[in-house]
Amino acid sequence: MQSDEPGTDPQWSSISSLTQDVLTCTRCALSETRTNAVPGAGSEFPGILFIGEGPGANEDQQGKPFVGRSGALLDELLALAPLRREDVYITNVVKCRPPENRDPSPDEVRACWPYLEAQIQLLKPRVIATLGRHSLMRFFPDARISSSHGQILSWRDGIVIFPLYHPAAGLRSTKLKDALKKDILKLPQAMIAALESERKSEN
Ligand code: URA
Ligand code: SF4
Repeated sequence: MQSDEPGTDPQWSSISSLTQDVLTCTRCALSETRTNAVPGAGSEFPGILFIGEGPGANEDQQGKPFVGRSGALLDELLALAPLRREDVYITNVVKCRPPENRDPSPDEVRACWPYLEAQIQLLKPRVIATLGRHSLMRFFPDARISSSHGQILSWRDGIVIFPLYHPAAGLRSTKLKDALKKDILKLPQAMIAALESERKSEN
């Protein structure tokens, strides 16, 4: 998967048509065990796109991203930025829950990738905040979360990748929760870096 190369034109002309297709998608085996697909939620003009790994049990029940304990921590972190959910868009690498919260398989990630690719093209975020190692790996396969969290990394088309630990990791470790709280305060800097890189690419 060449996730770092610009994709072709999206198959979908709007976020709402993409969302409809995700809700009924059967492109991979996760469709057989899900209760609800979780396309994502938030602003359709977000400066920032948050990308988690995949829905958990609560998300699968409600069809919305980050509604469990990890979601409560994500809300707390957003408030520090300060941002509200409605200001950003939140989605996941795979849109359906892997059973027992296992890692999604490479085939499942590959099957679901066109949705994320199209979300990036339609939502046009300036900053993509990856939540956790698996999400970061989709953009920088060789990056390590322990050394790259809180860093401002340039990706393509002037988009900045801003890696964060996964909120679930923050719930398990005070040290990682503190790192999350510190890193989120750098979000405005990440946004400025993205605006500067966009300006440079226009000149
Ligand atoms: N963890 C994730 O990665 N995504 C969610 O939506 C919820 C928990
Ligand atoms: Fe479709 Fe993605 Fe769900 Fe698989 S995980 S069924 S590709 S929406």
